[in-house]
Amino acid sequence: MKIFAPRETDPIETRASLDPAAVKKLIGLGAEVIIESGLGARCDHPDSAYAEVGATVTHDRAGTLASADLVTRVRKPSLEEVGQLKAGAIHISFLDPFNEKDLITKFAEQKVSAISLEMIPRTTLAQKMDAISSQANLAGYVSVIIAANRMNTIFPMMMTPAGTISPAKVFVLGIGVAGLQAIATAKRLGARVTAFDVRAEALEQAESLGAKALRIDLGDTAGTDQGYARELTPEQLEKQIQAQAKVCAQSDVVITTAKVFGRKPPILIKKDVVDSMQNGSVIVDLAAETGGNVEGIVPGEEVVTENGVKLIGLANFEGQVSKHASQVLAANFANMIEHFWDKEANVFQINPADEIQKGCLITH
Ligand code: NAD
Repeated sequence: MKIFAPRETDPIETRASLDPAAVKKLIGLGAEVIIESGLGARCDHPDSAYAEVGATVTHDRAGTLASADLVTRVRKPSLEEVGQLKAGAIHISFLDPFNEKDLITKFAEQKVSAISLEMIPRTTLAQKMDAISSQANLAGYVSVIIAANRMNTIFPMMMTPAGTISPAKVFVLGIGVAGLQAIATAKRLGARVTAFDVRAEALEQAESLGAKALRIDLGDTAGTDQGYARELTPEQLEKQIQAQAKVCAQSDVVITTAKVFGRKPPILIKKDVVDSMQNGSVIVDLAAETGGNVEGIVPGEEVVTENGVKLIGLANFEGQVSKHASQVLAANFANMIEHFWDKEANVFQINPADEIQKGCLITH
């Protein structure tokens, strides 16, 4: 089976779908691996590192897309490139399937089996392939490092002969995978952390990391059977926004990570709350790329408000640590391919009835 990893074409994408370690694993399974020249250029893996572990390095992107049995990539492909795939090929990437109807239709017309990384079930068995988690974890870390870097103050408390510097106050909104890592990172840097989530179990997890949980009685906030949050009613949302306003106003850093499965992220911090924050405070919005949790956030940009609050809406936070992000993402790809590899036929076995594929195989 011929596996092809093309270079990412979006200028903001620094990650690669395969790193040399993953290539080595796939070749060990019996696959032939071809990478497009420059695949790892932005995550510190030169072509030679891939060649050393047995990959073929090509400059012929279109020709290899047309002949590959399985394509791995980070970002969703263009309609044009889906049109280049051969019938029966397998394509694995992030796909944003709820919002990409034309793309999914194109995969179906092309008779390609498309696997969406977002739709891998959050089960124990599938954990090793869970790219949402592997990337969100690093995004949570990066959000705190970026905040620390943009502030004119420090995170830890310091008692010096020249006086005492108080610790930074950090508020983390949304305590999923990214939020938990943001809490852990901020704590390690010495901040005082408060956190809120609509899921009660998430509040306990935040407390176990040393954060103070903000408790707001919103009534029924039960999530989905996959552990995801459901959309709040307008009344619940309003109550939450009011209840957390004071915490935001007193925070030096607010990190927002709140997402609702299959929907646009909710707006949780409105302009009046941003206006109430202190000069020099920083908001980092990890949901920015899909619309954001903060009013006034511009995806991919940093905005300073009139009252001196820095709104950071960078896209692809995990791409700031591209080598490690690619390491764990490539491991997710390799683990998935290994899991479904038929050793006798030397192929990736598509099985729509399989528990994991039932969730993430979008076209077949
Ligand atoms: P996510 O990215 O979908 O959302 C981030 C967080 O935002 C979630 O914790 C969610 O509850 C929260 N949120 C939604 N609306 C909110 C609001 N109005 N205010 C505050 N917070 C709000 O979540 P995720 O990080 O992908 O994790 C989702 C779930 O999956 C979690 O329960 C997590 O523990 C679980 N999970 C399970 C596995 C596994 O078992 N393999 C792996 C990873 C994650």
